[in-house]
Amino acid sequence: MFSIFVVCSNCGKNLLKDIRHINENKKFGHNFYYSLQCQYIFKDQKLELICENSNCANKFKRQPSDISPHNFCSRSCAAIINNEKYERIPLKREMGGIYKPARKYFETWNNAISIAGFNPNPVCLPITR
Ligand SMILES: [Zn+2]
Ligand SMILES: [Zn+2]
Repeated sequence: MFSIFVVCSNCGKNLLKDIRHINENKKFGHNFYYSLQCQYIFKDQKLELICENSNCANKFKRQPSDISPHNFCSRSCAAIINNEKYERIPLKREMGGIYKPARKYFETWNNAISIAGFNPNPVCLPITR
């Protein structure tokens, strides 16, 4: 296996790559980067996301480091969805009647809630301090 030095497209450092990898990269027109960081910096790489507010569904771009499990194009979209979640999620005591059967079929309450399509987390939040 041959390895030769190539130059990082971002910082100019030399890096050793095997020739097969180089040929592949050339075929696809890819650049070489010393590290993943160099790749992000050079491309100013942002991932395209779709707003989780389905009424909005805006596409927006975000740095990989800023991506969270739930992504919204704006604070107001996040607020709309979070409010909806709080309203939609039934509290345990309001569902006393079905809590027991649900528990029987799903090992935990949280399981039952997530299978039903709710985010279980708000259930655990105290309402007042
Ligand atoms: Zn570099
Ligand atoms: Zn949005």
